[in-house]
Amino acid sequence: MLHDNLDTVDWADDLAVIPRGYPLSQQILRTDVSGMPLEWVDYREAARLYHTEQVAYTCGSLLYRLYGGTCARTGLRTVVDVNSIIATHGHTGNPGNLRGAAYTPPLNNQTLFRRDAYLCLYCGARFAYSLLSRDHVTPFSRGGQDTWSNVVSACRRCNNAKASRTPEQAGMELLAVPFTPTYAEYIFLKGRRVLADQMEYLIAHFPRSSPLHERMQRWPM
Ligand SMILES: [Zn+2]
Repeated sequence: MLHDNLDTVDWADDLAVIPRGYPLSQQILRTDVSGMPLEWVDYREAARLYHTEQVAYTCGSLLYRLYGGTCARTGLRTVVDVNSIIATHGHTGNPGNLRGAAYTPPLNNQTLFRRDAYLCLYCGARFAYSLLSRDHVTPFSRGGQDTWSNVVSACRRCNNAKASRTPEQAGMELLAVPFTPTYAEYIFLKGRRVLADQMEYLIAHFPRSSPLHERMQRWPM
């Protein structure tokens, strides 16, 4: 995988990429050496990880072949094949290493709407990102908090209709129970265009009781 002359060239300069049927924007799933998912990286970061010999092993499919600078000594270009999943040595200080229990991922609409499959959890219709809103199941005015377990995606109409009431008070029923994702679930929700092998890998790291198992069956995206 690594050529022996990698350390003699400036890898970041003069980087040429031969995609293997994948767009350059395709993200790569980085894990730690034990296989715990850590983060998504782009091809440049992946190249850096290969170049600094932090890649322990790879899984998944071949995404790109990267050609680096020419080695002055041999006149050959350096070549690295980048896979869709790369396991790396060392530690990034990533909270994913806490392995669950204590970790609460940051709440943002991108991952929240993805958790709820871009559905309004009141009327059940699917909406574009820009047409969804964050509904607080128990409103702030009634002591509700801005936490994963108290928020759902909702269309503007349902959100307005519910106003500052609980679902019971508004006579509205939730289609699914909101939940706090684990780190692996959060990485999955953060992914843009997750490949089948990456998805399979991440799902294997979800808890057995993960609501996403059922949600993905019920609401394929
Ligand atoms: Zn709605």
